[in-house]
Amino acid sequence: MLDKIVSLQNKKIRKWLISTPDSKKSQKKRLRVPMHIRVLVWRKYCGNVLQGGRCVACGEPLDFKDASFSHKVPRCRGGSIDARNIIPLHRRCNEDMGDMTAIEYIRKFYPKREKILRKKGFL
Ligand SMILES: [Zn+2]
Repeated sequence: MLDKIVSLQNKKIRKWLISTPDSKKSQKKRLRVPMHIRVLVWRKYCGNVLQGGRCVACGEPLDFKDASFSHKVPRCRGGSIDARNIIPLHRRCNEDMGDMTAIEYIRKFYPKREKILRKKGFL
């Protein structure tokens, strides 16, 4: 019975994979990070939500309301949706980062920051 259910589910998933265009799949993947996770992440990297913090990637000032909550390891590369995999960035830094991991991005564009961030336990 259980086998039957599992194989039915697999069939449904396969059907969805075949019938759904890639653009829809990536839309599905781009779920917004829930507010309580955003607050948790902000507290870890920046402190008080009401005060400004800094973008983890470029190190420039950043406000909570403008922050883009991005994955250290992107979902498409096996990154988890866990809060530990999320960092606050500028929107432009997040867009720049694309499919790179945070470490790859910082190494490429802000190499001097890697050591500092590692010291803080941010990477
Ligand atoms: Zn930035």
